[in-house]
Amino acid sequence: MSKIPLIDLKAQYLSIQPEIDAAIRRVIETTAFINGPDVAAFEQEFAQFCGAEHAVGVASGTVALQFALQACGVGAGDEVIVPAHTFCATAEAVVHVRARPVFVDIDPHTYTIAPDAVARAVTPRTKAIVPVHLYGMPADMDAINAIARQHGLFVIEDAAQAHGALYKGRPVGTLGHAACFSFYPGKNLGAYGDAGAVVTNDADIARQVRALRDHGRMPGPDGKRPKYAHAIVGYGERMDTIQAAILRAKLRHLPEWTARRQDMAQRYLALLADAPVELPFTPDDRQSVWHLFVVRVQQRAEIQARLSAQGIETGIHYPIPLHLQKSFAFLGYRPGDLPHTEAAAQHILSLPIYPELGEEQQAQVAQALRQAARGV
Ligand SMILES: *Cc1c(COP(=O)(O)O)cnc(C)c1O
Repeated sequence: MSKIPLIDLKAQYLSIQPEIDAAIRRVIETTAFINGPDVAAFEQEFAQFCGAEHAVGVASGTVALQFALQACGVGAGDEVIVPAHTFCATAEAVVHVRARPVFVDIDPHTYTIAPDAVARAVTPRTKAIVPVHLYGMPADMDAINAIARQHGLFVIEDAAQAHGALYKGRPVGTLGHAACFSFYPGKNLGAYGDAGAVVTNDADIARQVRALRDHGRMPGPDGKRPKYAHAIVGYGERMDTIQAAILRAKLRHLPEWTARRQDMAQRYLALLADAPVELPFTPDDRQSVWHLFVVRVQQRAEIQARLSAQGIETGIHYPIPLHLQKSFAFLGYRPGDLPHTEAAAQHILSLPIYPELGEEQQAQVAQALRQAARGV
């Protein structure tokens, strides 16, 4: 019995091994490990991919969120509206800039932040909204931007799972004031270690993030960054040159990989059309890049166990909503506060979806899920 994992990073490496090996060797041979030419080149290529003016490479998606908030002036005493149904980093970044995360519920069909819940959560202290393009699906950005405009708020997209996703034909990354991407190995565009980027059309935000990631060094009149002059208190959170070189090689393949994920999602939708599971929903004005294919099932634990017994790995993204995490207990939320988020957390199940997954394996997953969902 062949195992079907949730993701297969080794298969992807083998499919482009000479390109990756050459990229890594190039950096080692030039020893330009920090701020090497591949970083600037990747920034330019990724900005172009997003249709944005600027991309700034940083050490992770988490730090990209922190720096974007900081560059927008979010700090102590401010509130930032975030969904509770997301990876913890979305809210951690808010705490790291000493602001307060205000958790709101999701739209139960798209799993992205519910605009009416955002509108109800705005207070005089609100400074920013962080919509998450979860599972590769853009959030309802027009509705969110309308609320932000009305109250003078910043909008920072958490696009960690959505490289290349489209909202009304426009790629995520320029739909707010700034957008944050993660290149964690398992993301749609993944490095071979940690990496992230802030993307923006705002030159001042880009300038601030460049200083924050590199110990507060600001370019002088000659355009060069002084080694030992620090304009602000920053951090050592740059993107490694080796990661940038790997990401450049992989970015060339991303459109074809995304197309494969989209084909695969359509195939799952067809194969599972009459199965007793709730399938993902895509509004007409959005194009998901299917970071995850998430269904809702009853009796999830039994179904997961049955699939696992057949060598099929599944996941739960995410089992504990952020407002009920121990780490955020100091915010004082209670079970029942965010019903759509809590219901999703109990029933969602992520199926294997990655460009290297074969059609036969996919049919095997769908068949096993149909049987398990009927049988329990
Ligand atoms: C992965 C992820 C992050 C954090 O990115 P890292 O690169 O792992 O720090 C933030 N938000 C979401 C929604 C993510 O999926």
